[in-house]
Amino acid sequence: MIDYQTLYRVLRSAKADVWADRLPQQIRDALDQTRHGHLATWQQLIDSIPDFSTNQRILEAHTVQIGSVNELTELERVSLKTQLKSLHPWRKGPYELFGIKIDAEWRSDWKWKRVEQHISPLKHRLVLDVGCGNGYYCWRMLGAGAKCVVGIDPMLLNVMQFQFIHKLHGGVPPVFVLPLGIEDLPYGMKAFDTVFSMGVFYHRRSPIDHLLELRDSLVPGGELVLETLVIDGGLGEVLVPEDRYAQMRNVWFLPSCPTLMGWLSRCGFKNIRLVDVTATSTEEQRSTEWMTFHSLKDYLNEGNPLLTCEGLPAPKRALFIAQTANC
Ligand code: SAH
Repeated sequence: MIDYQTLYRVLRSAKADVWADRLPQQIRDALDQTRHGHLATWQQLIDSIPDFSTNQRILEAHTVQIGSVNELTELERVSLKTQLKSLHPWRKGPYELFGIKIDAEWRSDWKWKRVEQHISPLKHRLVLDVGCGNGYYCWRMLGAGAKCVVGIDPMLLNVMQFQFIHKLHGGVPPVFVLPLGIEDLPYGMKAFDTVFSMGVFYHRRSPIDHLLELRDSLVPGGELVLETLVIDGGLGEVLVPEDRYAQMRNVWFLPSCPTLMGWLSRCGFKNIRLVDVTATSTEEQRSTEWMTFHSLKDYLNEGNPLLTCEGLPAPKRALFIAQTANC
């Protein structure tokens, strides 16, 4: 079981008592075993991992590394690998856990490299990572010196993958992945110094509301890091796919960069900067031993990789940084 006392304390000192009061029940409800067919099995799996206690924890390098190869017997490592594999698919990584290399679907380290050079230093900051997946970036944010990192993601498999890694890490690191969606946050907390929303915006049906929710979770003068799919085009242009986008059913708004900057401005953000635009490559997102389902190459047009299989512009991601007003 994860000890959330540090989190509650940190939230209270950031004047987010409303959330600290509500969170224990929210976590209990979300992790109620009757709500998800696999949850009980996953939790037993995590409980059954032995305490390997290691001091080897590297959170600053491309691969999040916990434990080293010579700390386990061959038998222990084989068993650990089987347990990790039972939490397939691993979408975010890479990780190396006691010598087991998890080559996830995404080279998330590539995205983090694009992000980290542009953001305000995370040292001593209280960070919120909305739609954090299995928490790969949360560990990297902690490695970058954040005071406390709170990730939220409603997909329970992601939360279980995080809890597995957390158990291998040992101790009480100030990093949490909560089984919640952004809609579960109390409105207007104004508590976080930096808020990340990466790969989430295009899944939201109300993009402006998403920006407002992000804004209201930030302290005055806080920093938003927004990464999302965009299209080429001018102010006012936005693609709303008629049906699927790269086979995904839940893709709603793909604005052009000027359009999204306009929306950020309308929502009261200041100092809005577009710092990176990168087409997603089939090297960055691909099937691996740890994610054996279809991946990007299967979703692109066979004859023209600049288009998705539906004939829409292939995935291109932009990274925006903005601040909330100072008062
Ligand atoms: N931030 C990661 C993961 C992006 S994938 C990255 O950039 O690589 C999008 C994630 O958003 C998924 O893990 C999904 O479970 C999560 N998500 C979906 N609905 C959400 C919601 N309402 N609130 C927060 N996260 C959500």
